[in-house]
Amino acid sequence: MSLYDELGVRPLINASATLTRLGGSLMPPEVIEAMLDASRHFVNLDELQMRVGERLAELTHNEAAYVCTGAAAGLALATAACVAGTDPAAINQLPDVTGLKNEVIIHKSHRNGYDHGVRQVGVKIIEIGSAIHTEPWELERAINANTAAIFWFQGGMTGRGDLPLEKVIEIANARGVLVVVDAAAQLPPVENLWRFTQMGVALAIFSGGKDLRGPQSSGLIVGRKDLIAAIRLNGSPNHSIGRPMKVGKEEMVGLLAAVNRYIKLDHEARASQDEEVVAGWCATLNKFPGVQAQRSFPNEAGQPLPRALVTIDADKASSTRDQIVQKLLDGTPAITVSTAGANEIYLNPMTLMDGEEQVVLDRLVEILKK
Ligand SMILES: *Cc1c(COP(=O)(O)O)cnc(C)c1O
Repeated sequence: MSLYDELGVRPLINASATLTRLGGSLMPPEVIEAMLDASRHFVNLDELQMRVGERLAELTHNEAAYVCTGAAAGLALATAACVAGTDPAAINQLPDVTGLKNEVIIHKSHRNGYDHGVRQVGVKIIEIGSAIHTEPWELERAINANTAAIFWFQGGMTGRGDLPLEKVIEIANARGVLVVVDAAAQLPPVENLWRFTQMGVALAIFSGGKDLRGPQSSGLIVGRKDLIAAIRLNGSPNHSIGRPMKVGKEEMVGLLAAVNRYIKLDHEARASQDEEVVAGWCATLNKFPGVQAQRSFPNEAGQPLPRALVTIDADKASSTRDQIVQKLLDGTPAITVSTAGANEIYLNPMTLMDGEEQVVLDRLVEILKK
């Protein structure tokens, strides 16, 4: 009997995405082993964070790096670093930002649930542009002596009418303003680990519990040495705004093992394997009346990996879209998928373990045959 059975919690096959509420991603053996090793000894946590950070910086071609408890925590720590820096009085004062640089600029189109991580530091969000369009002068006008940073959210919320990131960096750098990129789900491509910082952003933040397949409660911040030093002081174990976002020794070492693996991974082979899975799914599913399956690219977070978009015509298929989704979830093993619109299902190979792509297909065939 597995631990989950004992708890009465049904394990899921995840054909959806690296969603936090489903457990993010699954750690490969080398990550688990690293965490197990780390769990056996006491260490000086500051020293471990330093050494792990140095390795991560080297691996990701960055000046410096820091392990946090997730990209959302990374947003809070990056904000704290931009506002309070390394000044002990300012660090102690947060989230009261009186007398400090207390404004953060964000595209209106980028506003999203994760910006709570920025707001919890007490700063005021200054929105620029409209939901669909932003002009350079809007950013130029928004910058003033109180500006702590500009935060850029890369992914589903990045819009075509936004200022290009290059333009944001150009305007910001000319005025000595920091740019921070939330790149939580922007892997692959692996090059993103250094692309944003090489473009000139001060800090880039990644989730450790998504495609990196590190500990679910881990995140990676890379970028400027002085800001990473400030993040250290604003983070646990120091008594600071970051103290409730404690990073354990196991997470630090686990994330390092995950990044090490990710850098060496054959990303091309992985992508073509996913292409094969999607092509196979589509070929079989298209044989059923009322079912139309096609490759969809890139994925929901804009990553260069394919999914299958399956459209169900309820009049011609054996079940409605919602019935199919429910049957997948109610079966054994339980399978979870994403939906779109009224009639669509997304099947994602990204989070499937070897062989699960066939389990998903077999179950769908069984449901569609009825
Ligand atoms: C997933 C995600 C986060 C949060 O990442 P965690 O590692 O779960 O904290 C933040 N921002 C964006 C854009 C995300 O997609």
